Amino acid sequence: MRAARILQKLLGIDRVRIIDVEFTDDERGPVIVVTLEPHASVRSRCPHCEQRCPKYDRPNRPRQWRHLDMGGMRCFVQTSVSRIRCPEHGVVTEMVPWARPAANMTRAFDDNVAWLAAHSPATSVCEYARVAWRSVTRIVTRVVDDAVGRTDRLQGLRRLGIDEIAYRNGHRYLTVVVDHNTGRLVWAAEGHNESTLNRFFDELGEERTARLTHISADAAKWIASTVRSRAPQVKRCMDPFHVIQWMTRALDRLRSRVLSRLWGFTDQDRRPLRWALLTSRISPPRRSQSEQRSSTTETANSVEATS
Ligand SMILES: [Zn+2]
Repeated sequence: MRAARILQKLLGIDRVRIIDVEFTDDERGPVIVVTLEPHASVRSRCPHCEQRCPKYDRPNRPRQWRHLDMGGMRCFVQTSVSRIRCPEHGVVTEMVPWARPAANMTRAFDDNVAWLAAHSPATSVCEYARVAWRSVTRIVTRVVDDAVGRTDRLQGLRRLGIDEIAYRNGHRYLTVVVDHNTGRLVWAAEGHNESTLNRFFDELGEERTARLTHISADAAKWIASTVRSRAPQVKRCMDPFHVIQWMTRALDRLRSRVLSRLWGFTDQDRRPLRWALLTSRISPPRRSQSEQRSSTTETANSVEATS
């Protein structure tokens, strides 16, 4: 097998011819630059509709796309592209078989970073892929846009969870719907009211809504009323997260009441009382203070029993 063919296999890019390979260095370390020439069958095609279109101008200087690292070195593929005039999409840069429209990373690099972003902390993704977080955001947007339409996330839903999450310091809200069977987010939209949730049921459609069996949510009235009217057959469940949250808050209020009636305790004495009320034991355990702990717990319990 010729070296060019081996390199093409390693790159994982089809419908191209390898013209040149260059090893260089930039301020961030060694770089491999592979110059490619797309096959004639994929040239002069619109990146959006893949229709062959007349050229608008001639290729200018080579354009580069970041590709998956090779041998620990950053890798770029490059070629000269021209603009074409698509009857539907206007004047656009012609398609290249290895990248999404308007991207400056290859499809393989995009997919790799998007997967990492879904499974790793932001800082790890940026350091591992050696890209800025803003680039990661653009990559994820591209990959998601590409996947929308090819996969139906609302297919086969049975047990759902509905919740709202705040962002921009609580000034804006998203309504999110997760599939309890897969643990995946299946729908999200800005807003947290009945009309927002109605949009979800509109997209889901009557047939698929009729197949839902369970929906869990917090005690928000707008969720309960919408679910009652749009999916009356489902069993509505209280979200365990919120139940625990309410219990914890109730215990905190109880603790405050108990503490307000205790005298003669230092702050250090009072601190373990929170755990005594939440867990019926004092945590974290400190053996040297075991006597003090038990007496503190007894005091707290006796005060509550008589209150
Ligand atoms: Zn087009």
